Amino acid sequence: MSELKRYGHENLRAAIAAVFRAGKADDATASAVGDMLVEANLSGHDSHGIQMVSYYVDCLNNGTLDPAARAELVLDGGAVLRFDGHMGFGAVVGAATMAAGIERAKAHGIALVATANSHHLGRIGHWAEACLLEGLVSLHFVNVHGHQPLVAPWGGMRARMGTNPFCAGVPATDRNPPFILDFATSKIAFGKVHVANDKGVPLPAGAMIDTDGVPTLEPGTMIPDATGGSLLTMGEHKGFGLSILCELLGGALTGSGANRPERITQETTTNGMLSIIIDPAALGDLAGLREEIDALYGWVVSAPPAPGEESVILAGEPERRARAERLEHGVPLADQAWANFIAAGGRVGVAADTLESLARA
Ligand code: NAD
Repeated sequence: MSELKRYGHENLRAAIAAVFRAGKADDATASAVGDMLVEANLSGHDSHGIQMVSYYVDCLNNGTLDPAARAELVLDGGAVLRFDGHMGFGAVVGAATMAAGIERAKAHGIALVATANSHHLGRIGHWAEACLLEGLVSLHFVNVHGHQPLVAPWGGMRARMGTNPFCAGVPATDRNPPFILDFATSKIAFGKVHVANDKGVPLPAGAMIDTDGVPTLEPGTMIPDATGGSLLTMGEHKGFGLSILCELLGGALTGSGANRPERITQETTTNGMLSIIIDPAALGDLAGLREEIDALYGWVVSAPPAPGEESVILAGEPERRARAERLEHGVPLADQAWANFIAAGGRVGVAADTLESLARA
């Protein structure tokens, strides 16, 4: 496959913000969305980067994404907060609910933050990173509804759940970077099916079945019609269990709602997120914690690498490596992904020339 074209991250941020300003978002909102998406590209998760623009524009145009909506605090129990995102941009809703949770975790040692009815919250690691910047541990259970379910339950051959991500962050020590575990409970995120489709490459084995339950590597099985197949859960029955937990905690407990037939609108993405934010200092022995962390990581990565592997790495490392490489060399994008972005801009009235010149500024 030929080398992909590279784009500077600042230029991509500006181009994305231009699209959402045209989509009636204010300047700060449009910039926040551009930043959240480009940070995903920088982290190596192209599934949650600029390729989401086309989908967000469709949601703006069909009225299921409200560019002016803000997170509303509907319950304040001190360390327990519940927000309604009113289907505002996840970049804005998530930033507000995490800022509030961080403040309460610092005050109380722990905070439980329920974020209901947010539009797409993007790469959930983005929110763990916000907590990590403040030295806080966090856990995030997220569910997804509002469109066709994409993931089959273990033992089933039709989709019933969303790709329901789980994420956790543990702060850095003086010797080690933070641990950031962040994954869809499906074998791969659905955005990665789009990325594979745009690039014309097969899916990894074990990621998808067709409607007869037969494994397939063909991303087009679920594009453009997601009912053409189902993603499988990661970790077999264990990932299935975690996916249901995300429905229960991220969907039911937050009040955002879990998957059920009435919530299939084929039009939008509703994320519910339950976040538990912990100040490790509240447990009184930060030095002891850091010593344990360093000893654990050192022991684990000392395992001899398996055949074909360079070394053992910990969660968060692939994203840091991608970030370093892409900050230096730019974000690689498939021509089709770029064409989709330009077309999305056109749907809110932004000329292709404007976006091309922003991207090459
Ligand atoms: P993935 O499979 O690429 O990576 C998951 C995790 O594994 C990361 O924490 C990474 O650091 C770690 N990892 C990767 N390779 C590793 C290795 N060799 N050794 C140790 N750790 C390693 O992720 P995914 O499941 O495709 O999810 C991609 C993104 O999609 C995530 O950021 C997730 O939050 C997001 N997502 C969002 C939604 C939503 O509705 N907002 C839905 C699904 C997924």
